[in-house]
Amino acid sequence: MRVRSMLILLLFAVAAGILVWLRHDAPKPRNAQKASWNEIIADLNACGRRKHIKAMQHAHFAEIAASENRPEAERLFRALAFSERLQEQNCAAAIRRLGGEYRPPRPGTLFGGSTDGNLDRCIQAERRSYHEHRDAEIRRAMTRGNRYAARTLVWASAADLKSIFLLECRHGSRECAFAVCPVCGNLYVTEYLDRYCPFCLTDGEKFVRFE
Ligand SMILES: [Zn+2]
Repeated sequence: MRVRSMLILLLFAVAAGILVWLRHDAPKPRNAQKASWNEIIADLNACGRRKHIKAMQHAHFAEIAASENRPEAERLFRALAFSERLQEQNCAAAIRRLGGEYRPPRPGTLFGGSTDGNLDRCIQAERRSYHEHRDAEIRRAMTRGNRYAARTLVWASAADLKSIFLLECRHGSRECAFAVCPVCGNLYVTEYLDRYCPFCLTDGEKFVRFE
Protein backbone atom coordinates (compact mmCIF):
# COMPACT_ATOMS: atom_id res chain seq x y z
CA MET A 1 0.00 0.00 0.00
CA ARG A 2 2.82 2.36 0.93
CA VAL A 3 4.69 1.55 -2.30
CA ARG A 4 1.53 2.35 -4.29
CA SER A 5 1.16 5.77 -2.59
CA MET A 6 4.78 6.54 -3.29
CA LEU A 7 4.28 5.64 -6.96
CA ILE A 8 1.21 7.91 -7.22
CA LEU A 9 3.14 10.76 -5.60
CA LEU A 10 6.03 10.20 -7.98
CA LEU A 11 3.67 10.29 -10.98
CA PHE A 12 2.19 13.56 -9.73
CA ALA A 13 5.65 15.06 -9.36
CA VAL A 14 6.66 14.00 -12.90
CA ALA A 15 3.39 15.36 -14.38
CA ALA A 16 3.86 18.68 -12.55
CA GLY A 17 7.45 18.86 -13.80
CA ILE A 18 6.34 18.30 -17.41
CA LEU A 19 3.67 21.01 -17.09
CA VAL A 20 6.19 23.53 -15.72
CA TRP A 21 8.62 22.69 -18.54
CA LEU A 22 5.93 23.05 -21.23
CA ARG A 23 4.80 26.37 -19.84
CA HIS A 24 8.34 27.68 -19.74
CA ASP A 25 9.07 26.53 -23.31
CA ALA A 26 5.81 27.73 -24.90
CA PRO A 27 5.97 30.81 -27.17
CA LYS A 28 5.32 34.05 -25.31
CA PRO A 29 1.85 35.52 -25.74
CA ARG A 30 1.73 38.24 -28.41
CA ASN A 31 1.21 40.98 -25.83
CA ALA A 32 4.25 39.89 -23.83
CA GLN A 33 6.39 39.91 -26.97
CA LYS A 34 5.10 43.35 -27.90
CA ALA A 35 5.90 44.66 -24.42
CA SER A 36 9.47 43.44 -24.75
CA TRP A 37 9.89 45.49 -27.96
CA ASN A 38 8.11 48.63 -26.73
CA GLU A 39 11.24 50.75 -26.66
CA ILE A 40 12.29 49.69 -30.17
CA ILE A 41 8.73 50.27 -31.45
CA ALA A 42 8.82 53.79 -29.94
CA ASP A 43 12.15 54.48 -31.70
CA LEU A 44 10.76 53.24 -35.03
CA ASN A 45 7.61 55.32 -34.52
CA ALA A 46 9.70 58.45 -33.87
CA CYS A 47 11.81 57.75 -36.96
CA GLY A 48 8.74 57.10 -39.14
CA ARG A 49 7.06 60.29 -37.96
CA ARG A 50 10.21 62.32 -38.60
CA LYS A 51 10.40 60.86 -42.12
CA HIS A 52 6.69 61.56 -42.70
CA ILE A 53 7.11 65.25 -41.84
CA LYS A 54 10.18 65.54 -44.07
CA ALA A 55 8.40 63.80 -46.97
CA MET A 56 5.48 66.24 -46.73
CA GLN A 57 7.80 69.22 -46.47
CA HIS A 58 9.99 68.18 -49.40
CA ALA A 59 6.95 67.52 -51.61
CA HIS A 60 5.73 71.03 -50.77
CA PHE A 61 9.14 72.53 -51.56
CA ALA A 62 9.09 70.67 -54.90
CA GLU A 63 5.80 72.35 -55.78
CA ILE A 64 7.26 75.75 -54.91
CA ALA A 65 10.36 75.01 -57.03
CA ALA A 66 8.11 74.00 -59.95
CA SER A 67 6.15 77.25 -59.62
CA GLU A 68 9.47 79.18 -59.70
CA ASN A 69 10.61 77.23 -62.77
CA ARG A 70 13.52 75.67 -60.88
CA PRO A 71 13.57 72.13 -62.35
CA GLU A 72 16.85 71.10 -60.65
CA ALA A 73 15.59 71.95 -57.20
CA GLU A 74 12.22 70.40 -57.99
CA ARG A 75 13.92 67.11 -59.02
CA LEU A 76 15.98 67.07 -55.85
CA PHE A 77 13.00 67.74 -53.59
CA ARG A 78 10.94 65.08 -55.36
CA ALA A 79 13.72 62.51 -54.95
CA LEU A 80 14.09 63.43 -51.26
CA ALA A 81 10.32 63.21 -50.67
CA PHE A 82 10.16 59.79 -52.37
CA SER A 83 13.07 58.48 -50.30
CA GLU A 84 11.62 59.78 -47.01
CA ARG A 85 8.24 58.23 -47.80
CA LEU A 86 9.88 54.85 -48.49
CA GLN A 87 11.75 54.98 -45.20
CA GLU A 88 8.57 55.88 -43.36
CA GLN A 89 6.93 52.79 -44.90
CA ASN A 90 9.91 50.68 -43.84
CA CYS A 91 9.56 51.94 -40.25
CA ALA A 92 5.82 51.19 -40.31
CA ALA A 93 6.46 47.66 -41.64
CA ALA A 94 9.07 47.03 -38.92
CA ILE A 95 6.66 48.27 -36.23
CA ARG A 96 3.91 45.94 -37.48
CA ARG A 97 6.34 43.03 -37.54
CA LEU A 98 7.09 43.66 -33.86
CA GLY A 99 3.37 43.64 -33.04
CA GLY A 100 3.02 47.43 -32.75
CA GLU A 101 1.05 50.07 -34.56
CA TYR A 102 2.52 52.96 -36.53
CA ARG A 103 0.93 56.33 -35.80
CA PRO A 104 1.78 58.96 -38.43
CA PRO A 105 1.67 62.55 -37.20
CA ARG A 106 -1.32 64.78 -37.85
CA PRO A 107 -0.94 67.14 -40.81
CA GLY A 108 0.99 70.17 -39.59
CA THR A 109 1.98 73.55 -40.97
CA LEU A 110 4.35 73.39 -43.91
CA PHE A 111 7.07 76.00 -44.42
CA GLY A 112 6.88 78.11 -47.57
CA GLY A 113 9.38 80.64 -48.83
CA SER A 114 11.56 80.87 -51.90
CA THR A 115 13.45 77.86 -53.26
CA ASP A 116 16.89 79.18 -52.34
CA GLY A 117 15.72 79.83 -48.79
CA ASN A 118 14.07 76.42 -48.66
CA LEU A 119 17.27 74.67 -49.74
CA ASP A 120 19.25 76.48 -47.04
CA ARG A 121 16.58 75.74 -44.45
CA CYS A 122 16.67 72.04 -45.37
CA ILE A 123 20.45 71.84 -45.06
CA GLN A 124 20.36 73.42 -41.60
CA ALA A 125 17.43 71.27 -40.44
CA GLU A 126 19.02 68.05 -41.76
CA ARG A 127 22.38 68.81 -40.17
CA ARG A 128 20.77 69.69 -36.82
CA SER A 129 18.59 66.57 -36.88
CA TYR A 130 21.48 64.29 -37.89
CA HIS A 131 23.69 65.49 -35.05
CA GLU A 132 20.84 65.40 -32.52
CA HIS A 133 19.93 61.79 -33.21
CA ARG A 134 23.40 60.27 -33.45
CA ASP A 135 22.95 56.52 -33.27
CA ALA A 136 21.26 55.91 -29.91
CA GLU A 137 18.26 54.16 -31.53
CA ILE A 138 20.48 51.94 -33.66
CA ARG A 139 22.63 50.93 -30.70
CA ARG A 140 19.50 50.22 -28.64
CA ALA A 141 18.15 47.87 -31.33
CA MET A 142 21.54 46.18 -31.72
CA THR A 143 21.96 45.74 -27.95
CA ARG A 144 18.52 44.15 -27.74
CA GLY A 145 19.44 41.79 -30.59
CA ASN A 146 16.84 43.19 -33.02
CA ARG A 147 18.90 43.34 -36.19
CA TYR A 148 15.82 43.87 -38.39
CA ALA A 149 14.90 47.11 -36.58
CA ALA A 150 18.56 48.13 -36.45
CA ARG A 151 18.85 47.68 -40.22
CA THR A 152 15.75 49.84 -40.83
CA LEU A 153 17.20 52.57 -38.59
CA VAL A 154 20.65 52.30 -40.23
CA TRP A 155 19.03 52.80 -43.66
CA ALA A 156 17.17 55.85 -42.30
CA SER A 157 20.32 57.35 -40.82
CA ALA A 158 22.36 56.71 -44.00
CA ALA A 159 19.67 58.41 -46.09
CA ASP A 160 19.73 61.41 -43.73
CA LEU A 161 23.44 61.83 -44.40
CA LYS A 162 22.95 61.37 -48.17
CA SER A 163 20.24 64.06 -48.06
CA ILE A 164 22.71 66.52 -46.51
CA PHE A 165 25.27 65.64 -49.19
CA LEU A 166 22.79 66.10 -52.07
CA LEU A 167 21.34 69.31 -50.66
CA GLU A 168 24.79 70.82 -50.30
CA CYS A 169 25.86 69.65 -53.78
CA ARG A 170 23.02 71.43 -55.54
CA HIS A 171 24.92 74.67 -54.99
CA GLY A 172 27.21 73.54 -57.84
CA SER A 173 26.42 74.76 -61.31
CA ARG A 174 26.06 71.28 -62.90
CA GLU A 175 22.66 69.98 -63.74
CA CYS A 176 22.02 66.89 -61.61
CA ALA A 177 19.66 63.96 -61.91
CA PHE A 178 18.88 61.70 -58.96
CA ALA A 179 18.01 58.09 -58.27
CA VAL A 180 16.49 56.37 -55.24
CA CYS A 181 16.70 52.70 -54.25
CA PRO A 182 13.07 51.58 -54.07
CA VAL A 183 13.73 49.21 -51.15
CA CYS A 184 15.81 51.15 -48.62
CA GLY A 185 15.52 54.73 -49.91
CA ASN A 186 19.25 55.14 -50.57
CA LEU A 187 19.85 58.31 -52.65
CA TYR A 188 22.18 58.93 -55.56
CA VAL A 189 23.33 61.49 -58.07
CA THR A 190 22.85 59.39 -61.25
CA GLU A 191 26.41 60.11 -62.33
CA TYR A 192 27.65 57.98 -59.44
CA LEU A 193 25.25 55.07 -59.32
CA ASP A 194 26.17 51.78 -57.69
CA ARG A 195 25.41 48.68 -59.78
CA TYR A 196 23.70 47.23 -56.73
CA CYS A 197 22.55 49.09 -53.64
CA PRO A 198 25.25 48.46 -51.02
CA PHE A 199 22.64 48.56 -48.23
CA CYS A 200 19.99 46.16 -49.52
CA LEU A 201 21.50 44.59 -52.71
CA THR A 202 18.72 45.88 -54.98
CA ASP A 203 19.73 45.83 -58.65
CA GLY A 204 20.61 49.36 -59.85
CA GLU A 205 18.31 48.83 -62.86
CA LYS A 206 15.41 49.06 -60.45
CA PHE A 207 16.38 52.43 -58.96
CA VAL A 208 13.72 55.10 -59.40
CA ARG A 209 15.10 57.97 -61.45
CA PHE A 210 14.34 61.67 -61.12
CA GLU A 211 15.67 63.19 -64.36
ZN1 LIG B 1 18.81 49.87 -51.18
